[in-house]
Amino acid sequence: MTTLPAKLQAVLARIAGAARRYGRDPADVGLLAVSKTWPAAALRELAAAGQRAFGESYVQEGLAKITELRVLGLDWHFIGSLQANKTRSVAEAFDWVHSIDQLRIAQRLAEQRPATLPPLSVCLQVNVSNEASKGGVSPAAVPALAHAVARLPRLRLRGLMAIPAPSDDYMVQRGPFRGLRELSEQLQADGLLLDTLSMGMSHDLEAAIAEGATLVRIGTAIFGERR
Ligand SMILES: *Cc1c(COP(=O)(O)O)cnc(C)c1O
Repeated sequence: MTTLPAKLQAVLARIAGAARRYGRDPADVGLLAVSKTWPAAALRELAAAGQRAFGESYVQEGLAKITELRVLGLDWHFIGSLQANKTRSVAEAFDWVHSIDQLRIAQRLAEQRPATLPPLSVCLQVNVSNEASKGGVSPAAVPALAHAVARLPRLRLRGLMAIPAPSDDYMVQRGPFRGLRELSEQLQADGLLLDTLSMGMSHDLEAAIAEGATLVRIGTAIFGERR
């Protein structure tokens, strides 16, 4: 059986290999270990192997792990869909939220982020594949939302996030990631200071890195199939 630290090393090697292949510095591509459904003990093992950033999709589950692992000083990213009645605990406990797609949610997070903590880092989730069922703001609505979120106190707009429709074809995978990068470049040309493209999962991290991902969100390739 492959151990968690060995699978973490294999993913880091995949990231570094892809970065070099596309002429990028491997240090510019961060790894978010997506730990939803996995117990705190598994995160503890990865933390001991050097992994600092963990992504959670469910508020209660994430809060329980944050509490249990508090002494480790890890970075916690909320990546799931966020309902208005759950924003307070996210604002109080997480370091990042990747899934902002409504101004109303961002406003609540801004009001509820404790002044004693650093600003909450946030990304806008963009519906790059234009699937009606998926979360995320449509590309056309991104500029207005980005400028509105950037003006809110206690939040720091870091960039864009997307979950494209899955494809096994590498060139098809690259299309939506390219779209997200171009959208980010447009916002930067408009004066927003962004440093994050949160894109790429276990099956498409190479395509995402080719198109400029700065943070890949990896679950299955580290932990195995979710239970
Ligand atoms: C679960 C999840 C991931 C991880 O996906 P894998 O295919 O298991 O690597 C990444 N991003 C989001 C938003 C997720 O919900």
